[in-house]
Amino acid sequence: MGPIVIRVNSAARPRTRPGFTLIELLVVIAIISLLISLLMPALASSRKSGQAIVCASNERQLAIAATAYVNDNDDWMNPLEDMYHPNGVEVEATYRVLIYTYTGGTPKVYDCPSEGKQVYSDGLSPTDIAYGGITPDPGENLSQLFGIFHPLERYNSSGIGIGGAHWIRVHDPDAESKKSSMPFGRAKESGYFEGLERMARVAMSDRLIWFGDGGSGSPDLWEDDSFWIKRTTEDFLAPGFNRAAEDDYGARRHRNKANYAFADGHSELLDANDIPCSESECWWSVKFNWHKSNPVH
Ligand SMILES: [Zn+2]
Ligand SMILES: [Zn+2]
Repeated sequence: MGPIVIRVNSAARPRTRPGFTLIELLVVIAIISLLISLLMPALASSRKSGQAIVCASNERQLAIAATAYVNDNDDWMNPLEDMYHPNGVEVEATYRVLIYTYTGGTPKVYDCPSEGKQVYSDGLSPTDIAYGGITPDPGENLSQLFGIFHPLERYNSSGIGIGGAHWIRVHDPDAESKKSSMPFGRAKESGYFEGLERMARVAMSDRLIWFGDGGSGSPDLWEDDSFWIKRTTEDFLAPGFNRAAEDDYGARRHRNKANYAFADGHSELLDANDIPCSESECWWSVKFNWHKSNPVH
């Protein structure tokens, strides 16, 4: 049997060279474009998943570093921030400086890869300076301002924050009537850690949030203090804290959820609405039923 020849138009010119016609090329390009458009969401999605995994890993590393700090400090948990006097100069420094050596000197573990704006490992950026409304010394190299006792360290933003929803300043004018409820606060110069807790006092370490996706940098929150997960209402110690309700965008960072590392070192991806802060249970307090025993401060 000979070759089958279909002749559509006897007047059509026979093809004299191999290759694609313009129509064929356009069809191929259209198909490739379609495939790319189908793949892109999947690629973006897997990229987001990867970032969430790195974030969870960073938070667990922070929990491990903070646990090492606890072991080296007679079971006292690290303060959220405090006044320090290196070289005789008073410096208000964050927990990040205190546990820095325990992270192996790795500034990136304080950041979430999904957060581009609040980045600790890039030092004191123009964004941080704008948030803090501060005037740095023009001669200083601010890109390395992390993990050191420095007056401007606390203005360096973090993508990951330390838990401090019920945190109270010792120097609060009404501090005496507010019993300490959280493991974070200021150490007194005398060495008495008012406002702090020993790890042994933690009732359920798998129900105490130690770190989480931070970033309270929305305009109506405390922009210049973005290293901790905070409560913006006046009544710091009352039950009912809900990051989502307070419009803390860090709580929605990973597909409307956020990563949290607990005091036992495990991490979870949680919806802010599912984190208890009630009289029966509070994951922001050392005693999980703290609001029941201290309903009004
Ligand atoms: Zn994250
Ligand atoms: Zn609570």
